Amino acid sequence: MKPFPSLEIVPPLKGITKTELLDSIRPFMEFGPRYINVTCHRDEYEFRAEPDGSFSRHLLRKRISQTAVCAAVQAAFPEVEVVPHLICGGASTEQIESQLQDFNFMGIRNILVLRGDAALGEKRFTPERDGYAHADELVAAIRRFEAGFGRDHIFTLGVAGYPEKHFESPNLDTDIQYLKKKVDAGADQIITQMFFDNAVFYDFVRRCREAGITVPIVPGIKPLSTARQVDLLPESFSIDIPLALTREVAAHPEHAYRIGEEWCLEQCRDLLAHGIEEIHFYTMGRSDNLINILRSCF
Ligand code: FAD
Repeated sequence: MKPFPSLEIVPPLKGITKTELLDSIRPFMEFGPRYINVTCHRDEYEFRAEPDGSFSRHLLRKRISQTAVCAAVQAAFPEVEVVPHLICGGASTEQIESQLQDFNFMGIRNILVLRGDAALGEKRFTPERDGYAHADELVAAIRRFEAGFGRDHIFTLGVAGYPEKHFESPNLDTDIQYLKKKVDAGADQIITQMFFDNAVFYDFVRRCREAGITVPIVPGIKPLSTARQVDLLPESFSIDIPLALTREVAAHPEHAYRIGEEWCLEQCRDLLAHGIEEIHFYTMGRSDNLINILRSCF
């Protein structure tokens, strides 16, 4: 099979127009992405003091809804499959079922199933009282809902894997055991967290295979684009940045964008040389680095 890229986009902040969003995606189309993933963000609320001493709860939604973004991308680029992310966080079982009905109605056939992170201000993830605590529970529930919709396996389900382990996990082996639970519950493939050292990814795949995980494992990649990201990415995603990359950026911080692009390009070339069929790209902010990488690889 000819290798292909897939992309992850984040619903834009309110104020960005549909045309602006689609124009930012259009340059990627010449490289034949098969999937565009659209991330999902739990609602945030603000509590305001009322004159009578009580508090009222107000929805703070800074971004355009995921459903609106999926529909816009589907209509503009029918050759690409849109893959919404679905998270346990902040949703009851009934809300999730209703969301799945919407996805089915929209003709969506591929979903990335996640737990989601803790809500703003919370230290640890807390499931809704009538919700799902982990992604494996949500995968199993989707398989049950599908039966209720009258057809088995309506959706191809992806789940997240962490080559450097999920930050809450005591060790990688335990994390991989839980990853296997997600696959055993009905997941069809795994997309990884970003990594900057391919050796870490290859070792992760080997350990997953030894643990009995047989589904495809798609590497997730992002080029480093600012010198600040050397600190920010490990903090936000619990990943390592290799010493060679940090040294190069520290020596030439003004060239961080180009250094990050070249590093990512080498990673992609190496992944393709190892027979990887799909590379998943996290698009955040400026994208000319990604376009250059895709032009060289696909
Ligand atoms: P889980 O698989 O539930 O794992 C979470 C932790 O619990 C791990 O430490 C795991 O080892 C452990 N665990 C798993 N199952 C069990 C179990 N049954 N019992 C006990 N422990 C268990 N976040 C968003 O909010 N929106 C997004 O759109 C989004 N997209 C993402 C896309 C990708 C490709 C990746 C890699 C991450 C994404 N995230 C997103 C982040 C993700 O939601 C967080 O990393 C979250 O903290 C964990 O989600 P998960 O699905 O991996 O959780």
